[in-house]
Amino acid sequence: MPEASIASKFMGGGITVRTKIILACTECQQRNYDTMKEKRLHPDRMETKKYCKFCRKHTLHKETK
Ligand SMILES: [Zn+2]
Repeated sequence: MPEASIASKFMGGGITVRTKIILACTECQQRNYDTMKEKRLHPDRMETKKYCKFCRKHTLHKETK
């Protein structure tokens, strides 16, 4: 069963490393978004423009712990 063996590798083998991250507004420091990222594909800190309800505008959000 080749399909089953591939699936089990993904489950327990650490081939995909999905990490929960929090995106915080760089202007007011509020943590507005929870998301998942694949560390292998994005080893650097993620930065993305998102709407901040505290600033009431789109601001740059950075990955934080
Ligand atoms: Zn903000």
